[in-house]
Amino acid sequence: MTKGGMESVEVFPAEGKGRGLRAQKEFLPGDVIFAEPAYAAVVFDSLTHIVCHTCFKRQERLHRCGQCKFAYYCDRTCQRVAWLDHKSECSAIKRHGKVPTENIRLAARIMWKMEREGSGLAEGCLVSIDDLQNHVENFGEEEKKELHADVESFLEFWPPQSQQFGMQFISHIFGVINCNGFTLSDQRGLQAVGVGIFPNLCQANHDCWPNCTVIFNNGNHEAVRSMFHTQMRIELRALSKISPGDELTVSYVDFLNVSEERRKQLKKQYYFDCTCEHCKKQIKDDLMLAVKEGEHKPSAEMVKEVIQFSKDTLEKINKARLEGVYHEVVRLCRECLKKQEPVLGETNIYLLRILSIASEVLSYLQMFEEAADYAKRMVDGYLKIYHPNNAQLGMAVMRAGVTHWHAGLIEAGHGMICKAYAILLVTHGPSHPITKDLEVMRVQTEMELRMFQQNELMYYKMREAALKNQKIQVMPEPTTETSPSLFHKKE
Ligand SMILES: [Zn+2]
Ligand SMILES: [Zn+2]
Ligand SMILES: [Zn+2]
Repeated sequence: MTKGGMESVEVFPAEGKGRGLRAQKEFLPGDVIFAEPAYAAVVFDSLTHIVCHTCFKRQERLHRCGQCKFAYYCDRTCQRVAWLDHKSECSAIKRHGKVPTENIRLAARIMWKMEREGSGLAEGCLVSIDDLQNHVENFGEEEKKELHADVESFLEFWPPQSQQFGMQFISHIFGVINCNGFTLSDQRGLQAVGVGIFPNLCQANHDCWPNCTVIFNNGNHEAVRSMFHTQMRIELRALSKISPGDELTVSYVDFLNVSEERRKQLKKQYYFDCTCEHCKKQIKDDLMLAVKEGEHKPSAEMVKEVIQFSKDTLEKINKARLEGVYHEVVRLCRECLKKQEPVLGETNIYLLRILSIASEVLSYLQMFEEAADYAKRMVDGYLKIYHPNNAQLGMAVMRAGVTHWHAGLIEAGHGMICKAYAILLVTHGPSHPITKDLEVMRVQTEMELRMFQQNELMYYKMREAALKNQKIQVMPEPTTETSPSLFHKKE
């Protein structure tokens, strides 16, 4: 019986970083180092009626739990799987008369599981819940206040007939949730929909240029025979070649920030100072801050002014995006690009951020040609900055490819879709729904490209006819969370 790959890794004392995770054998890019089911997981408060409480897929029609009328599931299978974890929750919600917040629900699920299985090492776990870090001693005043409020609400919700835990232990659990809660996304990876605790994953330390990535897989119940069903899990996947004895690392934050910013964010959210190579040597900071070179090199004053203008614009864009006023977003982007173009280099992160938003929103508004132009520049910049097997990069190249395809730029579109497919085979694996979508697009664009090369005129005619007959597939509505943090933390 395999333990989901846990036999090929070990916990070790990592110098200056507490514990760490180490490989016990060799791994190649794309290898699954281990897969881990959630110890406990819950759907976000705002999405409890549109996301399945077992597999976290977003679905049109969900079945409601007839008892508490709170939990929702895809089907009988998901409901059956859920019952062990939901049973106590179900009766507690009925008794309490209302549903507590996601933090309380997650803490309660953890403690009901401990009540059932004991507090020791659970099957397939390298560490116990007791041993996870909570960082409560690092909490600021505001965080302490929130912790107290959570503990109070928890005590009101927790049924008297369940096992009673001490105050200190309850605080420990909330601390664990605060620093180890992993963000779960829907099946298309577009939206953060919940939070879960994965004790083994928690042992992997951060590196801004990691050798592993974590991907959430919602599992699949489509096969007729249940032996082919898979459950929701995270997978730790190798991004580069890993030798036995190497420490396994993941990145807790998006790399698209200068080292100083990343370090600030890590300190604030995870309470440590990053000492990775990329931070120590400020690798790629120069690219991310690039300014125009050559004859018309801008003055330092001018650069500062444009950066400030970009920051202000990004704030305005955020607001307009939240309000759904996408034409205003486009106007702001165009205005900002005009200011940036004579001053900033093509890999400057402020330029890349605007290009990313502009291409995404223009695609949504079906203005594909302008969108494709921006998307191309964004991808060229990203390719110079990101690790070649970065999941964020793969998703961005995929979006850019689809935009090019819709703009009728079949050659570039197909190239990008192939590129994205190659990255996602490593970061997401061949069975992930996003990779499967990409595979379909790859085949489709390949066919269209062949047609295009054989007879350009015919291709355009066919395309025109196709566009007339069927509405072009609308791009998903842009979200403000383009890259949700690995761990679910308040900003
Ligand atoms: Zn489901
Ligand atoms: Zn129920
Ligand atoms: Zn770092």
